[in-house]
Amino acid sequence: MSRYDRQIRIDGWDQEKLQDATAFIAGIGALGSFISTNLALSGIGNLILCDMDTIEVSNLNRQLLFHKREVRKYKSEVAAKKLRRINPDIDVVSLPMKLENVKRSHYEKADVIIAGLDSFDARRWLNSLAVDLKKPLFSGGMYGLMGHVQRIIPYETPCFECQPLIPQEKLSQACSPIGEKRKHIPKKKEAPMPAVATISMIIGAILSQEALKHIMNLGVPLNNYLFYDGMTNTTTVLHLERKFNCPVCGGYYDLDEATLTVEDGETVAELLTRIAYAFGLAEPKIMLKGIILDSAMVISKKNLKDGSKLFVMDDRLAKPLKLIIQKHKD
Ligand SMILES: [Zn+2]
Repeated sequence: MSRYDRQIRIDGWDQEKLQDATAFIAGIGALGSFISTNLALSGIGNLILCDMDTIEVSNLNRQLLFHKREVRKYKSEVAAKKLRRINPDIDVVSLPMKLENVKRSHYEKADVIIAGLDSFDARRWLNSLAVDLKKPLFSGGMYGLMGHVQRIIPYETPCFECQPLIPQEKLSQACSPIGEKRKHIPKKKEAPMPAVATISMIIGAILSQEALKHIMNLGVPLNNYLFYDGMTNTTTVLHLERKFNCPVCGGYYDLDEATLTVEDGETVAELLTRIAYAFGLAEPKIMLKGIILDSAMVISKKNLKDGSKLFVMDDRLAKPLKLIIQKHKD
């Protein structure tokens, strides 16, 4: 305990609780390096590190755990080794793979999920999983000298999809040419985002602190979105609100009344386009009685009835969205 002598002097600090806790860290880049280091130093019992990427030279201006000689090695592997050295009393698991490929049991074990991800798609997927598993999610992002932290407690605070903080071009991306003969549009290689060590440390530290507070039930939690601008040194806290029709945490999921009005003669492709727009999905698929509907299928009295139950699936949803069909009547 003498290792933790200075921190257990903090009022309400519960080192035993921390020793029993597990944090899943999604993304071991700049934010992930600082989050995992903070939690390891603090003596959290178990860390699960997940990142599919390998170390690049351009990471070295801000990713504390990596060295030039480790370029091309998996970030999660190298980080795990260093963190075990920083604190030999903690258990560190490395998962060098995509978040989607991680066994669910790893997520289920976690008391908190902390995300330092650079892709919107990965954040959306993880958000949807966290809501499904009812796991607290602390998600951060950065751009140059700006950064943000969002605290997501499923069904209590707004989730990532509740508010329009996702750039509109991201929401509408890939939504137009759904179904039919979709042409393969090669993804434009995005220019790398500006990133610096100081903001990585600040945002990584706030994420770690909120996660530690949550685990130990300490202090006043962030409610619920913090924006930090290092250029002017200003902090703004927004109280985002939950959205009832949020496709991930809204009432639609739990209510059977969520309806989709369709007309005979419409094609499944047309339904898919509407669903994609309504819920900000990329490539939804519709399942009826266990079968994925072909996008060319035409809706008629025979195949879809009033009250038919559809399930919408998409890479961004960890569980299918349930919709009840309402036939359009003139
Ligand atoms: Zn939501």
